[in-house]
Amino acid sequence: MTLIPEAKLFIDGELRGASDGGTYDVISPWTGQPVGKAANATAQDVDQAIAVARRTFDETNWGSAENRDKRLELVTKLRDAFLENRELIHDIAVHEAGATRLNCNLAHYAMAMDGWNDYINKFAEIEWEKDHGERYSAMAQSTSKRIAVREPVGVVAAITPWNVPLYVNIGKVVAGLLAGCCVILKPAPNTPGEGAIFGELAQKVGFPKGVIQVVFGEDPAMAGEMLVQDRRVDLVSFTGSTAVGRHIMEQGAKTMKRVFLELGGKSAKIVLEDAPNFAMDVATTMLIVHAGQGCAVQSRLLVPKSRYEEAKEILKGAYAHLGDNWGQIDAQDQIMGPVVSKKQHDRIMNYIQVGQDEGATLLAGGKSRPDKGGGFFIEPTCFVDVANNMRIAQEEIFGPVLVVIPFEDDADAIRIANDSEYGLAGGVSSADFERAMKIARAVRTGSMGINGGMAIAGDLPFGGYKHSGIGREWGLEGIEEYTEIKTIAWPVQQAEAAE
Ligand code: NAD
Repeated sequence: MTLIPEAKLFIDGELRGASDGGTYDVISPWTGQPVGKAANATAQDVDQAIAVARRTFDETNWGSAENRDKRLELVTKLRDAFLENRELIHDIAVHEAGATRLNCNLAHYAMAMDGWNDYINKFAEIEWEKDHGERYSAMAQSTSKRIAVREPVGVVAAITPWNVPLYVNIGKVVAGLLAGCCVILKPAPNTPGEGAIFGELAQKVGFPKGVIQVVFGEDPAMAGEMLVQDRRVDLVSFTGSTAVGRHIMEQGAKTMKRVFLELGGKSAKIVLEDAPNFAMDVATTMLIVHAGQGCAVQSRLLVPKSRYEEAKEILKGAYAHLGDNWGQIDAQDQIMGPVVSKKQHDRIMNYIQVGQDEGATLLAGGKSRPDKGGGFFIEPTCFVDVANNMRIAQEEIFGPVLVVIPFEDDADAIRIANDSEYGLAGGVSSADFERAMKIARAVRTGSMGINGGMAIAGDLPFGGYKHSGIGREWGLEGIEEYTEIKTIAWPVQQAEAAE
């Protein structure tokens, strides 16, 4: 039964199917059954998208300094169209990505649209031109007046994942457009609809042809590989797994591509023994929001040895309290649905087996639950007695699987938090603010919340240390990622003569 509109490619201002007419089924995470169709882009389609984006960037004034106000106006109009289509976008998020209705009001739509507004508001803060004053050059034997100007980087390939597709798509497309780039959006195969909507609404609001292209297909790698290797693409902005990010960096080297990578995480939440809301801090780490499929989720819970047994009891109670109150598509108040695909389901179930084989204790969950509707359901799961060198503590599971690790003291907590190849997010709780701040500064990660403080928002730069990525999305920095800096200098005498 088709529940969501067919996802069409958007190339050169035209919404269309693949050049060979090919389509593929979009599978609902709730039922495991087809829920819609999507165009299956061919190599010819991807090549055309690149050619059009290149031509549009090189031959039109889209990215010019004179066009800045117009760009802001169009991006704002497009935002309004996304607001008007809220219901449709919610439906797509539910049926493609397995978002719950409640979560549409959070990360899947509301937070994404807030981020869009933040970009619009930050636009005024971009320093397009910076005066670097005068300087005598011994080499030129003259004094020059110097400025630095920001210019759009050019053609951008935005390659995005399926977990919070609208949020990530907006993070890249809107920033690229505001900077003056031409953007080729390549959403994940599972979530083409949340990419296709950019083409549909861009056409509706009259975006200039060729500024935005959207391509996708069943093969997870084909279109992305082409975009990464093509010399007509100036920057690849990628959000996804660290393994693919690493591969993109290697492939991009051949054409000296600029790469901007938002990758995986295994973030630590450190709850100190004096945390004012110890029970609440521990219980709310259950990793049930969107079935734990968030890059910035705090999937390692670090608790002091002195209160480890107490933490176990708290968690036991929290999972029992949640009970079976998750995984119902029609529920308005549930935060956890299925995981996105059979592949993801099997991967997570494998990690649950690995955890048991490694000697960790299963405190809650651990089972696959196809009885919940035929889709890809896994129980909220918690491992205790976990050592940080176990695979379940080191590798990103990207599912509803929390691991709880004991620590001795503050230095040990910092050591464990940092003993990870990732560094994306994290948190620390303590009644002693200075102590918490000291730990927040010591953890090598892109964001830290103290006592539940929210360090992730559309007006703040977000990104990773270490293998969690390179570059920053959102905030002013998120727009600046899509610019190049050019310095221009001229002899002072010449400037004076001109005045
Ligand atoms: P993925 O790496 O499998 O795929 C991401 C995108 O890359 C998809 O569009 C996919 O089609 C494409 N792709 C796959 N192979 C490619 C190749 N060889 N060349 C070019 N493109 C290719 O990731 P996923 O499974 O879609 O998403 C989950 C991952 O994303 C997790 O690791 C998660 O942590 C990460 N993520 C990170 C952030 C962040 O901001 N740091 C946000 C969301 C998700």
